[in-house]
Amino acid sequence: MIDLHIHSDCSDGALSPEALVERAHRLGLRALALTDHDTVAGNDRAVAAGKQWGLPVLAGIEISTQWRGLTFHLLGYGVTRTDGAVASTLEFLVESRRQRNPRMVEKLRHLGVEITMEEVRARAGGEVVGRPHFAAVLLAKGVVRSNQEAFDRFLGRGAPAYLDKARLDPEAACRLVHDAGGVAVLAHPGLVERDRPDLLVPLLDHMTGLGMAGIEAYYSRHDPGQTLQYRNLARQRGLLVTGGSDFHAPGQGAPELGRGLGGLFVPDTCWEALEDRLATGG
Ligand SMILES: [Zn+2]
Ligand SMILES: [Zn+2]
Repeated sequence: MIDLHIHSDCSDGALSPEALVERAHRLGLRALALTDHDTVAGNDRAVAAGKQWGLPVLAGIEISTQWRGLTFHLLGYGVTRTDGAVASTLEFLVESRRQRNPRMVEKLRHLGVEITMEEVRARAGGEVVGRPHFAAVLLAKGVVRSNQEAFDRFLGRGAPAYLDKARLDPEAACRLVHDAGGVAVLAHPGLVERDRPDLLVPLLDHMTGLGMAGIEAYYSRHDPGQTLQYRNLARQRGLLVTGGSDFHAPGQGAPELGRGLGGLFVPDTCWEALEDRLATGG
Protein backbone atom coordinates (compact mmCIF):
# COMPACT_ATOMS: atom_id res chain seq x y z
CA MET A 1 0.00 0.00 0.00
CA ILE A 2 1.36 3.39 -1.03
CA ASP A 3 -0.06 6.92 -1.22
CA LEU A 4 1.01 9.45 -3.83
CA HIS A 5 -1.41 12.30 -3.08
CA ILE A 6 -1.12 13.89 0.37
CA HIS A 7 -1.38 17.43 1.79
CA SER A 8 0.47 18.82 4.81
CA ASP A 9 0.02 22.00 6.81
CA CYS A 10 2.37 23.71 4.35
CA SER A 11 -0.79 23.97 2.21
CA ASP A 12 -4.28 23.16 3.49
CA GLY A 13 -3.62 19.93 5.39
CA ALA A 14 -3.79 19.57 9.18
CA LEU A 15 -0.57 17.65 9.89
CA SER A 16 3.05 18.69 9.60
CA PRO A 17 5.19 16.85 7.03
CA GLU A 18 6.88 14.99 9.90
CA ALA A 19 3.57 13.95 11.47
CA LEU A 20 2.30 12.72 8.09
CA VAL A 21 5.28 10.48 7.56
CA GLU A 22 5.01 9.09 11.07
CA ARG A 23 1.29 8.39 10.58
CA ALA A 24 1.99 6.69 7.25
CA HIS A 25 4.64 4.53 8.88
CA ARG A 26 2.20 3.57 11.65
CA LEU A 27 -0.46 2.64 9.07
CA GLY A 28 1.99 0.37 7.27
CA LEU A 29 2.44 2.35 4.06
CA ARG A 30 5.46 1.48 1.93
CA ALA A 31 5.99 4.80 0.11
CA LEU A 32 4.59 8.32 -0.04
CA ALA A 33 4.53 11.47 -2.10
CA LEU A 34 3.77 14.85 -0.56
CA THR A 35 1.73 16.97 -3.02
CA ASP A 36 0.88 20.29 -1.40
CA HIS A 37 -1.05 22.91 -3.39
CA ASP A 38 1.26 25.35 -5.19
CA THR A 39 4.17 24.85 -2.81
CA VAL A 40 7.20 22.62 -2.34
CA ALA A 41 7.88 24.01 1.14
CA GLY A 42 7.25 20.74 3.00
CA ASN A 43 9.12 18.39 0.69
CA ASP A 44 12.60 18.48 2.26
CA ARG A 45 11.11 17.94 5.72
CA ALA A 46 8.98 15.03 4.52
CA VAL A 47 11.91 13.40 2.72
CA ALA A 48 14.08 13.79 5.85
CA ALA A 49 11.36 12.28 8.05
CA GLY A 50 11.04 9.45 5.55
CA LYS A 51 14.73 8.63 5.98
CA GLN A 52 14.20 8.52 9.74
CA TRP A 53 11.32 6.02 9.46
CA GLY A 54 12.77 4.07 6.54
CA LEU A 55 9.91 5.16 4.31
CA PRO A 56 10.69 6.45 0.79
CA VAL A 57 9.13 9.88 0.20
CA LEU A 58 8.88 11.57 -3.18
CA ALA A 59 8.90 15.37 -3.49
CA GLY A 60 5.67 16.44 -5.18
CA ILE A 61 3.29 19.31 -5.84
CA GLU A 62 -0.32 19.84 -6.95
CA ILE A 63 -0.97 22.77 -9.28
CA SER A 64 -4.36 24.32 -10.11
CA THR A 65 -4.69 24.67 -13.85
CA GLN A 66 -7.29 26.09 -16.23
CA TRP A 67 -8.21 24.99 -19.73
CA ARG A 68 -11.31 25.88 -21.77
CA GLY A 69 -13.11 27.10 -18.66
CA LEU A 70 -12.35 23.87 -16.78
CA THR A 71 -10.29 23.95 -13.58
CA PHE A 72 -8.26 20.81 -13.07
CA HIS A 73 -5.27 19.76 -10.99
CA LEU A 74 -1.88 18.64 -12.21
CA LEU A 75 0.40 16.62 -9.95
CA GLY A 76 4.18 16.88 -10.22
CA TYR A 77 6.44 14.11 -8.89
CA GLY A 78 10.18 14.30 -8.29
CA VAL A 79 10.12 18.10 -8.27
CA THR A 80 13.58 18.63 -6.79
CA ARG A 81 15.06 21.54 -8.80
CA THR A 82 13.04 24.36 -7.30
CA ASP A 83 15.22 27.43 -7.86
CA GLY A 84 15.18 29.92 -10.74
CA ALA A 85 12.08 29.95 -12.93
CA VAL A 86 10.33 27.34 -10.77
CA ALA A 87 10.78 29.47 -7.65
CA SER A 88 9.48 32.61 -9.35
CA THR A 89 6.38 30.86 -10.72
CA LEU A 90 5.60 29.42 -7.28
CA GLU A 91 6.17 32.84 -5.74
CA PHE A 92 3.68 34.34 -8.23
CA LEU A 93 1.05 31.76 -7.20
CA VAL A 94 1.60 32.32 -3.48
CA GLU A 95 1.52 36.09 -4.00
CA SER A 96 -1.74 36.02 -5.97
CA ARG A 97 -3.30 33.97 -3.20
CA ARG A 98 -1.92 36.39 -0.61
CA GLN A 99 -3.67 39.26 -2.40
CA ARG A 100 -6.87 37.29 -2.76
CA ASN A 101 -7.21 36.51 0.94
CA PRO A 102 -7.50 40.08 2.31
CA ARG A 103 -10.05 40.80 -0.41
CA MET A 104 -12.10 37.79 0.71
CA VAL A 105 -11.90 39.11 4.29
CA GLU A 106 -13.28 42.43 2.98
CA LYS A 107 -16.14 40.68 1.21
CA LEU A 108 -17.05 38.72 4.36
CA ARG A 109 -17.00 41.90 6.45
CA HIS A 110 -19.35 43.53 3.95
CA LEU A 111 -21.63 40.53 4.47
CA GLY A 112 -21.67 41.30 8.20
CA VAL A 113 -19.18 38.64 9.31
CA GLU A 114 -16.66 39.85 11.90
CA ILE A 115 -13.41 38.34 10.66
CA THR A 116 -9.80 39.52 10.34
CA MET A 117 -6.88 38.39 8.23
CA GLU A 118 -4.95 37.68 11.43
CA GLU A 119 -7.56 35.13 12.49
CA VAL A 120 -7.38 33.38 9.14
CA ARG A 121 -3.59 33.38 9.14
CA ALA A 122 -3.52 31.94 12.67
CA ARG A 123 -5.54 28.97 11.40
CA ALA A 124 -3.15 28.29 8.54
CA GLY A 125 0.13 27.84 10.39
CA GLY A 126 1.96 27.20 7.11
CA GLU A 127 2.82 29.18 4.05
CA VAL A 128 -0.28 28.78 1.88
CA VAL A 129 -3.46 30.36 3.30
CA GLY A 130 -6.65 29.19 1.62
CA ARG A 131 -10.41 28.90 1.87
CA PRO A 132 -10.35 25.93 4.32
CA HIS A 133 -8.78 28.30 6.86
CA PHE A 134 -11.56 30.82 6.29
CA ALA A 135 -14.06 28.03 6.85
CA ALA A 136 -12.34 27.01 10.09
CA VAL A 137 -12.63 30.58 11.43
CA LEU A 138 -16.32 30.80 10.46
CA LEU A 139 -16.94 27.48 12.20
CA ALA A 140 -15.04 28.50 15.35
CA LYS A 141 -17.04 31.74 15.54
CA GLY A 142 -20.33 29.90 15.20
CA VAL A 143 -21.21 31.77 11.98
CA VAL A 144 -21.74 28.40 10.34
CA ARG A 145 -22.33 24.95 11.76
CA SER A 146 -20.26 22.97 9.28
CA ASN A 147 -17.48 23.26 6.77
CA GLN A 148 -20.00 22.52 4.03
CA GLU A 149 -22.21 25.39 5.16
CA ALA A 150 -19.21 27.75 5.09
CA PHE A 151 -18.60 26.86 1.45
CA ASP A 152 -22.28 26.85 0.46
CA ARG A 153 -23.10 30.20 2.04
CA PHE A 154 -19.83 32.13 1.70
CA LEU A 155 -16.73 30.57 0.22
CA GLY A 156 -17.69 28.18 -2.58
CA ARG A 157 -17.47 29.07 -6.26
CA GLY A 158 -20.30 31.48 -7.00
CA ALA A 159 -20.96 32.22 -3.30
CA PRO A 160 -20.89 35.89 -2.20
CA ALA A 161 -17.41 35.92 -0.61
CA TYR A 162 -15.81 33.84 -3.37
CA LEU A 163 -12.94 35.27 -5.40
CA ASP A 164 -11.24 33.44 -8.22
CA LYS A 165 -7.46 33.01 -7.97
CA ALA A 166 -4.73 33.06 -10.56
CA ARG A 167 -4.23 29.72 -12.28
CA LEU A 168 -1.54 28.53 -14.65
CA ASP A 169 -2.49 27.37 -18.12
CA PRO A 170 -1.57 23.76 -18.98
CA GLU A 171 1.63 24.82 -20.78
CA ALA A 172 2.92 26.79 -17.79
CA ALA A 173 1.93 24.05 -15.33
CA CYS A 174 3.72 21.35 -17.33
CA ARG A 175 6.75 23.60 -17.80
CA LEU A 176 6.91 24.17 -14.04
CA VAL A 177 6.94 20.43 -13.31
CA HIS A 178 9.45 19.66 -16.06
CA ASP A 179 11.76 22.56 -15.12
CA ALA A 180 11.76 21.16 -11.58
CA GLY A 181 12.95 17.81 -12.94
CA GLY A 182 9.60 16.15 -12.34
CA VAL A 183 6.95 14.02 -14.02
CA ALA A 184 3.46 15.49 -14.61
CA VAL A 185 0.31 13.49 -13.84
CA LEU A 186 -3.39 14.38 -14.23
CA ALA A 187 -4.94 14.44 -10.72
CA HIS A 188 -8.34 12.86 -9.98
CA PRO A 189 -9.79 12.57 -13.53
CA GLY A 190 -13.09 11.64 -11.87
CA LEU A 191 -13.51 15.29 -10.84
CA VAL A 192 -12.79 16.43 -14.40
CA GLU A 193 -15.44 14.02 -15.61
CA ARG A 194 -17.91 15.22 -12.99
CA ASP A 195 -17.42 18.88 -14.02
CA ARG A 196 -16.98 18.49 -17.78
CA PRO A 197 -17.54 14.93 -19.05
CA ASP A 198 -17.02 16.14 -22.62
CA LEU A 199 -13.52 17.44 -21.87
CA LEU A 200 -11.77 14.46 -20.27
CA VAL A 201 -10.50 12.85 -23.46
CA PRO A 202 -9.61 16.13 -25.23
CA LEU A 203 -7.80 17.22 -22.06
CA LEU A 204 -5.83 13.97 -21.91
CA ASP A 205 -4.80 14.36 -25.53
CA HIS A 206 -3.82 17.99 -25.04
CA MET A 207 -1.83 17.25 -21.89
CA THR A 208 -0.13 14.20 -23.39
CA GLY A 209 1.01 16.48 -26.20
CA LEU A 210 2.61 18.72 -23.59
CA GLY A 211 4.57 15.81 -22.12
CA MET A 212 2.24 14.83 -19.28
CA ALA A 213 3.27 11.32 -18.30
CA GLY A 214 0.49 9.83 -16.20
CA ILE A 215 -3.05 9.61 -14.86
CA GLU A 216 -4.13 9.30 -11.22
CA ALA A 217 -6.43 6.34 -11.82
CA TYR A 218 -6.61 5.28 -8.17
CA TYR A 219 -8.30 7.92 -6.04
CA SER A 220 -10.42 7.98 -2.87
CA ARG A 221 -13.54 9.10 -4.73
CA HIS A 222 -13.18 6.95 -7.85
CA ASP A 223 -15.39 3.87 -7.94
CA PRO A 224 -13.92 0.61 -9.29
CA GLY A 225 -15.47 1.24 -12.71
CA GLN A 226 -13.81 4.64 -12.95
CA THR A 227 -10.45 3.26 -11.85
CA LEU A 228 -10.64 0.64 -14.59
CA GLN A 229 -11.70 3.22 -17.18
CA TYR A 230 -8.80 5.56 -16.30
CA ARG A 231 -6.31 2.68 -16.30
CA ASN A 232 -7.51 1.83 -19.80
CA LEU A 233 -7.19 5.45 -20.96
CA ALA A 234 -3.64 5.44 -19.58
CA ARG A 235 -2.72 2.17 -21.28
CA GLN A 236 -4.05 3.33 -24.66
CA ARG A 237 -1.78 6.38 -24.47
CA GLY A 238 1.28 4.73 -22.92
CA LEU A 239 0.84 6.77 -19.74
CA LEU A 240 1.81 5.84 -16.19
CA VAL A 241 -0.88 5.05 -13.64
CA THR A 242 -0.63 6.62 -10.18
CA GLY A 243 -2.91 6.93 -7.19
CA GLY A 244 -3.45 8.50 -3.83
CA SER A 245 -5.91 9.43 -1.12
CA ASP A 246 -5.84 13.27 -1.19
CA PHE A 247 -5.49 13.06 2.59
CA HIS A 248 -5.87 16.44 4.30
CA ALA A 249 -6.71 15.68 7.94
CA PRO A 250 -7.67 12.75 10.14
CA GLY A 251 -11.40 12.49 10.72
CA GLN A 252 -14.61 10.58 10.22
CA GLY A 253 -15.76 10.50 6.63
CA ALA A 254 -12.53 12.02 5.32
CA PRO A 255 -10.03 10.09 3.21
CA GLU A 256 -7.34 8.38 5.33
CA LEU A 257 -3.73 7.93 4.28
CA GLY A 258 -3.34 4.93 2.03
CA ARG A 259 -6.83 3.50 2.26
CA GLY A 260 -8.84 6.59 1.32
CA LEU A 261 -12.52 6.13 2.15
CA GLY A 262 -11.92 2.41 2.73
CA GLY A 263 -11.85 1.05 -0.80
CA LEU A 264 -8.59 2.59 -2.02
CA PHE A 265 -5.57 0.44 -2.71
CA VAL A 266 -2.73 1.90 -4.75
CA PRO A 267 -0.46 -0.92 -5.93
CA ASP A 268 3.31 -0.70 -5.28
CA THR A 269 3.87 -1.08 -9.03
CA CYS A 270 2.70 2.57 -9.46
CA TRP A 271 5.65 3.66 -7.35
CA GLU A 272 8.10 1.49 -9.23
CA ALA A 273 6.94 2.79 -12.62
CA LEU A 274 7.21 6.37 -11.42
CA GLU A 275 10.69 5.78 -10.02
CA ASP A 276 11.78 4.19 -13.29
CA ARG A 277 10.49 7.15 -15.26
CA LEU A 278 12.28 9.64 -12.99
CA ALA A 279 15.50 7.61 -13.15
CA THR A 280 15.45 7.75 -16.95
CA GLY A 281 15.00 11.51 -17.01
CA GLY A 282 11.28 12.19 -16.71
ZN1 LIG B 1 -6.82 18.21 -6.34
ZN1 LIG C 1 -4.99 17.22 -3.51
